[in-house]
Amino acid sequence: MDMPAATTPATRFLADTHEVVNVAHELQDYNLYAADTALREGVAREGAAWADADLHAFGARVGSAGYLELGNQANRFQPELETHDRFGNRVDLVKFHPAYHALMTTAIESGLHCSPWIEPRPGAHVARAAKSYLNSQVEAGHGCPITMTFAVVPALRLQPDLAAQWEPMITARSYDPRNVPAAQKSGITVGMAMTEKQGGSDVRSNSTRAYPVGGGGPGQAYELVGHKFFVSAPMCDAFLVLAQAPGGLSCFLLPRWRPDGSKNALQVLRLKKKMGNASNASSETELRGALAWMVGEEGRGVRTIIEMVAMTRFDCMIGSSAGQRMAVSQAVHHCSLRAAFGAPLIEQPLMRNVLADLVLEQEGALALTLRMARAMDSRSDEHEDLLVRLAVPVGKYWICKRTPAHAYEAMECIGGSGVMEDCMMPRLYREAPINAIWEGSGNVQCLDVLRAMRRSPASVEAFMAELKEARGADPALDAHVAALGRDLSDPRDAEYRARDIVERMALAIQAALLLQHAPHAVSDAFCRSRLAPAGHHNFGALPRGADCPAIVARAWSSRG
Ligand SMILES: Cc1cc2nc3c(=O)[nH]c(=O)nc-3n(C[C@H](O)[C@H](O)[C@H](O)COP(=O)(O)OP(=O)(O)OC[C@H]3O[C@@H](n4cnc5c(N)ncnc54)[C@H](O)[C@@H]3O)c2cc1C
Repeated sequence: MDMPAATTPATRFLADTHEVVNVAHELQDYNLYAADTALREGVAREGAAWADADLHAFGARVGSAGYLELGNQANRFQPELETHDRFGNRVDLVKFHPAYHALMTTAIESGLHCSPWIEPRPGAHVARAAKSYLNSQVEAGHGCPITMTFAVVPALRLQPDLAAQWEPMITARSYDPRNVPAAQKSGITVGMAMTEKQGGSDVRSNSTRAYPVGGGGPGQAYELVGHKFFVSAPMCDAFLVLAQAPGGLSCFLLPRWRPDGSKNALQVLRLKKKMGNASNASSETELRGALAWMVGEEGRGVRTIIEMVAMTRFDCMIGSSAGQRMAVSQAVHHCSLRAAFGAPLIEQPLMRNVLADLVLEQEGALALTLRMARAMDSRSDEHEDLLVRLAVPVGKYWICKRTPAHAYEAMECIGGSGVMEDCMMPRLYREAPINAIWEGSGNVQCLDVLRAMRRSPASVEAFMAELKEARGADPALDAHVAALGRDLSDPRDAEYRARDIVERMALAIQAALLLQHAPHAVSDAFCRSRLAPAGHHNFGALPRGADCPAIVARAWSSRG
């Protein structure tokens, strides 16, 4: 049969249907650190100027097209569980895509799981927070095992003999994903298993039992029988686990292998079918006499594991601030390249209002996160220690809870293409609620704030002293702080009002930080939009007079 010639005038005409114009291009090959003025200023301000060159190098690395693609692949090709091998042996093995392992390798070799513990110095937490913030913008899921490995150290140190044995393996800057006992590895990761079916927030309802193998007590071996309904990163080499010992709820370190080289009896039943956080395997497990060692005092398990939880809550602040930053970057990048009705979107007054508002949210989140990082660096100072106790749950509540709406609004800036799976926005959007729910959901954070205020009135004084630093800088903040102070000293209906109180605390400390450290355009618009008595709006309802071009330009002035 005769085939028509490939290039007849007619087919040429049909092939040239249109020219692709007025579209953005992929946001890649840029330096995430150099492009972020607020981050660079914050790092210097909070005591980590010494990390600037390293952060520059890291920002360039993680902003490369190839590195950003790892984040896509780790989520597209999701982890799979094999409970048994083909011969019928129980293996409880989760297999990950190479992209996930590549992300883990970078994170661990960069010290995101350990740097403040092995190289403590002023600004160590700030430098690590900044690097985690850059890293998390690329991919959030692998941050879960990195965070847990980082956070376990303060809890483990409550049991010095176990810490001496495990800490060198935990803090090694080597990612070793092999499925072999910890002692054979060049570096290990550690997870956390508290949540059971009948109660996650209320861990005192845990039903998993711990039976002493010998005499029992701190540092001694037990066998654990029960279940854990959420265990993320089940390929971690060990887990901190809560279980009921004869003397009450206690904390245990449970390795995945027993000292004799046999598999420990922690069985992975299935992987969770999560809406987001897809690269990170989260599992349901049963413990069938799993060997574990008690960490800290018997019956004081919550007190012990809270040391770990406090750190993971801080990392939720970092992760959600990072999500906000990537959402801002995607939205501003798109709007600077796309025109509608005769002008670039970024120059349309209403879009400017939306973008500026998204930037303000993110600047407030980052300022509070970096301030808390500095407080983490100075826990020996009483004021800083009290601030950590109160302002971390405040920040965890507020920043994580603002992120889903922020992600959605950034998605809308991109329009229909922002909804498509080959855009980063759906991933950011699905990731956004998770930090708010795990490590203590919203209400639990607010109740924790009340508990801290009740048990340590000095923490309220420390918080108010922090706000005083900005006294007189903006009348709206002065009025806000005065009203907050009155309401904090009113104990009636405290639980009922807790969200309102915590929200106002968060806004107060963010405003105080921005007034001291951000340009006037940012702090002024923040105060006028967020402290106004009119209440809350959707993003993009900044009042008249906000210098939106300046706010947006600051967020996107230097792409490195
Ligand atoms: C992706 C993902 C991964 C996870 N990974 C892990 C893991 O690795 N290890 C682990 O241990 N857990 C993990 N979790 C579990 C998580 O920590 C719990 O889901 C969370 O603590 C809430 O517990 P719950 O689901 O039982 O909800 P519940 O405790 O039943 O809480 C439901 C709601 O009630 C609210 N609430 C609770 N008490 C009160 C109160 N007194 N007053 C008002 N409101 C209240 C909570 O804030 C929440 O909004 C993970 C969860 C997710 C989503």
